[in-house]
Amino acid sequence: MVRYVYDFAEGGRDRADLLGGKGANLAEMVRMGLPVPPGFTITTEACRVFLETGAPPPGLDGEIAAHLARLEQAAGRRLGQVDDPLLLSVRSGARYSMPGMMETILDIGLNEYAVLGLAKSPARERFAWDSYRRLVQMFGTTVMGVDEALFEDVLRSVEHQHHVVDEAHLDACDLIRIVETFKDVVKEQTGEDFPEDPHEQLRRAVLAVFGSWNAERARVYRRREHIPDGLGTAVTVQTMVFGNRGEDSGSGVAFTRDPSTGAPGVYGDYLPNAQGEDVVSGTRDAVPLEELRRRDPASYDELCGHLRRLEEHYRDLCDIEFTVERGTLWMLQTRIGKRTAQAAFAIAGQLVDEGVISVDEALRRVDGEGLARLMFPRFDAAGAGEPLARGVAASPGAAVGVAVFDSAEAVRRAAAGEHVVLVRPETTPDDLPGMVAAQAVLTSRGGKTSHAAVVARGMGKVCVCGADALAVDVRGRRFSAGDVTVEEGTVLSVDGSDGLVYEGAVPLVDSVVMRYFEDGGGPPAEDAEQVVRDVHRLMERADAVRRLEVRANADTPEDAARARRFGARGIGLCRTEHMFLGERRAYVEAMILAADDAGRDAALAELLPLQRRDFAAILEAMDGLPVTVRLLDPPLHEFLPDRTELAVRVARAEASGREPDPRDTALLAAVTRMREENPMLGLRGVRIGLVVPGLVATQVRALAEAVVERVRAGGAPRAQVMVPLVGSVTELHLVREEVERVLAEVSRASGVAVECPVGTMIELPRAALTAGRIARDADFFSFGTNDLTQTTWGFSRDDVEAAFFPAYLDKGVFDASPFETLDREGVGRLVELAVAEGRAARPGLETGVCGEHGGDPGSVGFFHDAGLDYVSCSPFRVPVARLEAGRAALRGVSGSDAR
Ligand code: PEP
Ligand code: MG
Repeated sequence: MVRYVYDFAEGGRDRADLLGGKGANLAEMVRMGLPVPPGFTITTEACRVFLETGAPPPGLDGEIAAHLARLEQAAGRRLGQVDDPLLLSVRSGARYSMPGMMETILDIGLNEYAVLGLAKSPARERFAWDSYRRLVQMFGTTVMGVDEALFEDVLRSVEHQHHVVDEAHLDACDLIRIVETFKDVVKEQTGEDFPEDPHEQLRRAVLAVFGSWNAERARVYRRREHIPDGLGTAVTVQTMVFGNRGEDSGSGVAFTRDPSTGAPGVYGDYLPNAQGEDVVSGTRDAVPLEELRRRDPASYDELCGHLRRLEEHYRDLCDIEFTVERGTLWMLQTRIGKRTAQAAFAIAGQLVDEGVISVDEALRRVDGEGLARLMFPRFDAAGAGEPLARGVAASPGAAVGVAVFDSAEAVRRAAAGEHVVLVRPETTPDDLPGMVAAQAVLTSRGGKTSHAAVVARGMGKVCVCGADALAVDVRGRRFSAGDVTVEEGTVLSVDGSDGLVYEGAVPLVDSVVMRYFEDGGGPPAEDAEQVVRDVHRLMERADAVRRLEVRANADTPEDAARARRFGARGIGLCRTEHMFLGERRAYVEAMILAADDAGRDAALAELLPLQRRDFAAILEAMDGLPVTVRLLDPPLHEFLPDRTELAVRVARAEASGREPDPRDTALLAAVTRMREENPMLGLRGVRIGLVVPGLVATQVRALAEAVVERVRAGGAPRAQVMVPLVGSVTELHLVREEVERVLAEVSRASGVAVECPVGTMIELPRAALTAGRIARDADFFSFGTNDLTQTTWGFSRDDVEAAFFPAYLDKGVFDASPFETLDREGVGRLVELAVAEGRAARPGLETGVCGEHGGDPGSVGFFHDAGLDYVSCSPFRVPVARLEAGRAALRGVSGSDAR
């Protein structure tokens, strides 16, 4: 029989799929003997049943009742009993951490009798009514759907009457009034009384947490983080402990190292006389953890001891939530902590140095996306001037954008292409869409563990929080900092590494990591920054273990040289279209407009030496390494002037009674003749080579002659010819014959044997499906996954991303654009099929990928698994691909981590 409920003592960290991260790690802490308030976890499986059927699985109520009975027995207290009742928290906890995205309900079990029992003595009265107030508020909003603002209005009006700034200053009598008014609000809004039966409270709270999996903000977050929608959340039900029982109590969050920089040493925030939710929401300003040491050294020391044990046990940065109740420390949660890219590299390096993990394990713990982030520019301190404000450096990086003051405006402006900085007093989960849309998040309240900080860090967004010099006026859409007032739309620069905010756009400088790669990626100098050493060590390891080779997409000598410095071992795609642009357009026009073969040949003859020079320079920059030159791909009319412009010119001339320029008339006729409804599916790629006489021959001759030139200069050129958009082996065969004829001619004429492998791109489904036949004429395959995605899905690649991808992402058709991250199921399957059939027909066939996916951290692992020989990507992505290729090689390798 399926079980849906597990006691904390029954689980462990390896059961996160079933118990969620929170449940599994609570169980792990129980196993380790740490002080965890007792409780049980309802599985993700139960949630999935609920989400699918709209009802909890049969038997769940009975299981919960049995576990609750055991909990009550062990505690010697019952839920709802009048004297000193047992109270429970009900929290979400999915497989992957989704901070603040789902619901939590505290103080379950209170009602009008139990609250009196909880109060017991006059000293506890305020605490008891505050707890009841929290329950009615949380239950009212989360379970019964009452608008949170209505409760806030009641609170604010009572605070106003008493001239106090927050509820911490209200006394028990005020709170009794507030609870009564809250209950009236509930009744008014829902037509239902607030449920006083604790068992009903528990049951409904559990179902509400299940349901919160599909809350709008949770769905947005999952999309952003690529968390599958079908997982569901577990629910933990735990005995309440109270951080709001006076000045000897409190709640906090702590990290075993600084999650922002990776610096060693315990790090955290503490909020005296508060419950955990107050810390994470950022609604009250927390103080550094040191404050706990001053107030309660014994609890502080105990906490530090637990943090050390947790880090030793998990062998990684952990973050925790804890509560001190009248001098007793309780651990409420732990998990492997989210961290910035810089901290990820730093911590991995430290743990290797400390002998805790192997270098291979360190490599597994970083990723290409983080490395890419470290390569972004930083602000130039010299050009920055005086900051407008300082705050907590919560998530590093440099971002420039216009100030906006709410999530909707951030989303609206970002959709219109603007870069925005979301400015809020603090953020709540409702601000998530705006945070996703913004370049940076700036708040005037909250610390490194506030909602803004945690979420921004998880997303890799720049964040400065707690900039308390800012007075943020959300309604007025402005903030002031000292004498300066900043209105919505003003450009701001936000430095999340140093916690600084500037008005205007501050100039940027390269990152040190980028400079390291630009300098060739050799061993760092003695005085190099630590982040450079950390990166270097892991890049070296990645290079040592990876099987995939990394080449670059480069079509100029400068790009080729940069790619080489960044570690590329050749060019996987040299697009040749730029060789037909600029001042060369005139020859291209002449070629297209030529009335006869002689005219066309003359134009091509003009282009040939120019292309030869280009090829020679690129071959020189990549001397000794393969350079894959792709024959011209785009439709020819792209090289002609715009049709509308031409038509206007001709019409104007005609209207004013002048004879139009005959060249304009000829061009207009040509453009009109060549106009296509779907140019991407028209006369392009190999098709042009087959119908425009002399084009392939000219390109190949230019390349072959460049090879000869390089050989004569003592170089080791390794050119390859690549044919685009092949769908049938016959197309390739015809082009190949021409290529070989020209290579033979150049060899004969020069006396230098020019050997040039001839291969094809696989970028049409038909090519993939007939790969076995195509391989007979191809020395290599290179997967053009941009076109292969376009043609497999039938998506016009230039149109769809702006037109309807946001809706598709929203509706969950896919969780990442297939143009960014390879669609493994469809496009990937074609790649696998083509590799298998191609290699079966031609053993040892070289295979690579040169679409954008070759440099995508989320796709490189797939190409490794598919058995490709190399990935090719833009020069700046080369380090990312090297790192990911190393990580892919380690996947599934056990024992490489010695400990
Ligand atoms: C591709 O289609 O993946 C490719 C690399 O070619 P292009 O993007 O130039 O069409
Ligand atoms: Mg293509």
